[in-house]
Amino acid sequence: MEEKTAGQQLREALLTQRKNGWDVVDETRSQAIFDYCEGYKAFLNRGKTERCCVDYTLELAQAAGFVPLERGMELHPGAKVYRVNRGRGINLAIVGSVPLDQGVSITASHIDSPRLDLKPTPLYEDNELAFLKTHYYGGIKKYQWVTIPLELRGVVAMKDGTVKPISVGSYPGDPLFTISDLLPHLGAEQAKKPLGEAIPAESLNILVGSRPLKDDEGSDRVKLAVMKLLYDHYGIREPDFISAEIEAVPAFNAVDIGFDRSLIGAYGHDDRVCGYAALKALLDLEGVPMRTCVCVLADKEEIGSEGVSGMQSTFFDTFVGDLCATQKVPLRVCLEKSFCLSTDVTAAYDPNFAANLVYEKHNSAYVNYGVGLCKYTGARGKSGASDAGAELVAYVRRLLDDQGVLWQMAELGAADKGGGGTVACYMANRNIDTLDAGVPVLSMHAPFEVVSKLDCYMTYAACKAVYKG
Ligand code: MN
Ligand code: MN
Repeated sequence: MEEKTAGQQLREALLTQRKNGWDVVDETRSQAIFDYCEGYKAFLNRGKTERCCVDYTLELAQAAGFVPLERGMELHPGAKVYRVNRGRGINLAIVGSVPLDQGVSITASHIDSPRLDLKPTPLYEDNELAFLKTHYYGGIKKYQWVTIPLELRGVVAMKDGTVKPISVGSYPGDPLFTISDLLPHLGAEQAKKPLGEAIPAESLNILVGSRPLKDDEGSDRVKLAVMKLLYDHYGIREPDFISAEIEAVPAFNAVDIGFDRSLIGAYGHDDRVCGYAALKALLDLEGVPMRTCVCVLADKEEIGSEGVSGMQSTFFDTFVGDLCATQKVPLRVCLEKSFCLSTDVTAAYDPNFAANLVYEKHNSAYVNYGVGLCKYTGARGKSGASDAGAELVAYVRRLLDDQGVLWQMAELGAADKGGGGTVACYMANRNIDTLDAGVPVLSMHAPFEVVSKLDCYMTYAACKAVYKG
């Protein structure tokens, strides 16, 4: 070995050493990364909506011995409990060996993703074609949602209290749906419009049929024929759409991307990639953890964490409060000693858009450099950020380094170029020390997002480190 120059030694001693994760992991860990991601892809394929994610999470949790948290039940260290929030969110916990007045270790992710929701009165006919009207959910670039195959998932809640699950497009041989776009031959005027205006929200109408009802002289024969199919199959009538939640989501499954299969392309990485990491870390936890571990999979993050199933809901406080009640510990005493890793995706530096100057290269998250920590998110002068304290960031640096987790520090983008939020501020507002961390994503909020397998695994490892404390 050649001797290092004084400059080299100084450089290694004093300066930040950034390394591509693949240069750091050994063959065993590489295999663990690829194996982990097979489970993640299965989670994505099952969990195309928040309700589907909850259903699949329940399956996995029950198989691992989790039971519903009931008031009045006795909980011993190692007890595994969960509570579902109206079918759209779920909290899980493993009771630790130390009392709850020592706080809990929390990971908070969201399982809702940007999509197109059906309107309350969705079905109509125009020029003998039947369509469903949609209202987009979350921040989407509308032009990305035309001319792709879509499937429909959701529920219709009937007046008699029954709930009918709707799923068209998820089984082999199912029909799919799509939204049309103008042909380029006639698209000259459209092409001159700004991207954000070329596809108006009210043109996101899903094509669902074209065959008129036979032997009928009335109007809307295509619409009527579609409604008859829905009635025959599901027993629903047009007014039943009023109490339905049906989401149009991309009809493609998660796939490996790249000759080297190092990436995953899929719909809904934001934020199921962190949700699965946190869940899997909890399920894989061996023995009884020191502190009680709480895994939150929340809904409605994409529209501000509002509502009964969002992170601002006191559903979380009720859940942890009920845990605390078993040990006669006041909730506030527990929360002030708790720690939360707000696990949500961040923007990956995209060299294709370097010219847009929306990234700041010294403070961007890079693909394959590990889980991205964010001291703050927000926009402009950090507006809307919870801005974790220096001491807390130091704690997490130590925690992740000690557990061999590859991580990087990042901002979501350059200052004044936009911004984003997560559930972090709502956890911090509860007097919980909170830091953002998550997988860097290419094409975030697109119908087909891309993440690195190594970063997915490191987020799982980070969640495990948090639970181990
Ligand atoms: Mn997110
Ligand atoms: Mn998002």
